[in-house]
Amino acid sequence: MDEDFRMRPKRLRGTLLGLAALGGAGMVGVAFGGGDALLIAAVAAAVLIALSLFLSRGPDKGSQGSLAAPKDTATQLLPGVVRDIFECLADPVIVLGRSGHVIFANRASQSLLGASVERKHISAVLRTPSVLEAVDHVLAGGEGETVAFSFLVPVERHYEAYVTRVGRDGSPDSGLVLIQLHDLTAIRRSEQMRADFVANASHELRTPLAAVSGFIDTLRGHAKDDAEARERFLEIMSVETGRMRRLIDDLLSLTRIELNEHNPPQGTVDLSVIVRDAATALGPLASADSVTIDVAKQGSLPVTGDRDELIQVFQNLIHNAIKYGRSGGRVRIALGREGSDRVFAAVEDEGEGIPRELIPRLTERFYRVDVKRSRERGGTGLGLAIVKHILNRHQGRLQIESTPGKGSTFTVFLPAAALTSQESLAPTADVMKM
Ligand code: ADP
Repeated sequence: MDEDFRMRPKRLRGTLLGLAALGGAGMVGVAFGGGDALLIAAVAAAVLIALSLFLSRGPDKGSQGSLAAPKDTATQLLPGVVRDIFECLADPVIVLGRSGHVIFANRASQSLLGASVERKHISAVLRTPSVLEAVDHVLAGGEGETVAFSFLVPVERHYEAYVTRVGRDGSPDSGLVLIQLHDLTAIRRSEQMRADFVANASHELRTPLAAVSGFIDTLRGHAKDDAEARERFLEIMSVETGRMRRLIDDLLSLTRIELNEHNPPQGTVDLSVIVRDAATALGPLASADSVTIDVAKQGSLPVTGDRDELIQVFQNLIHNAIKYGRSGGRVRIALGREGSDRVFAAVEDEGEGIPRELIPRLTERFYRVDVKRSRERGGTGLGLAIVKHILNRHQGRLQIESTPGKGSTFTVFLPAAALTSQESLAPTADVMKM
């Protein structure tokens, strides 16, 4: 049917050309009025007829597969409403004619296949052997198939393609082929993350657990009657169980925050008070390392937020500044407004800093720049992941700046809440020392 449609106008054109040629030849014959002239006219007519027949010829059988489908095939075969529906779908949809040429590709398919794919053969558009095999299978009358495939460059992406015939009368040589693509990248990534998370969490727990069970065996065995060794081993066991407890607490916090991440917080809290409370709570830890915490003067900074979660954000950041800062050094906390709709709190330390290329990885679960140092300082590798999730829930943002050898600054930005009449803007002391 496609082919008939294509050949009809060309045949007509050929016939007209032939008639014109015959007419022209007759006129030449009449003008010259002789036998030679008639011969010339006959040859001219023959040449022109051959030319017109050549021009009116349809495509060769063998070249059909590589010729593009006619421009208006999609308009003819897919009613406007069907094309409109396909255009509204978020997933890529491609419709092929029976020769395997694309007769329609919706907008969603453009990011994957590029623009202007219509009239091209599917093999020139989607170079994925599994999909092309499924298309061949369906074009040959086979059942619909679902195949999975991945692109590794420029960014790894995973898809599932459902290839099926949309037959009008069920016969193998009629109907269209529909390819529906479904993007599985996010699902695959989260499956991978879950698997990595379980592997990391068990690894983190297994290390202290192995230490504790090793010491239990030792205490039952040759250290049974050694009071001094027993004290030492019990002390180590206590440190290791403390580590397991912190890890479990952080894991539970992270899960709780993640489950709640889609529920925006309700209450209004003062960021200045939150930061001061977090700094006060960490005062003893800072003193143990001879670190001074300076909180800059700032009046009220109301934000819409959950007090406990925001306290946790600043405890984690200030604790890190103490752990990875300079022993005997200073942790400075600046507070303020940025424009009319954002407030910030910046925690700055004088530690060794973080190599620039590692900064984007710091909020990954269990990622540490120096695993040994983190463990020695009681770290779980989850503190900044918790910060990130709490800030996501609060529609906030964490900015990390660091100069190796000089120190790091972790700045939290949060949307400002409207001031109420009760909120005091009275200044506090210039700098509070903890
Ligand atoms: P941890 O429990 O190991 O401290 P975090 O998630 O809080 O875990 O931090 C992840 C890693 O980021 C840390 O192990 C450390 O390598 C690095 N880091 C965090 N804060 C700082 C900081 N203030 N200075 C230098 N490195 C830091």
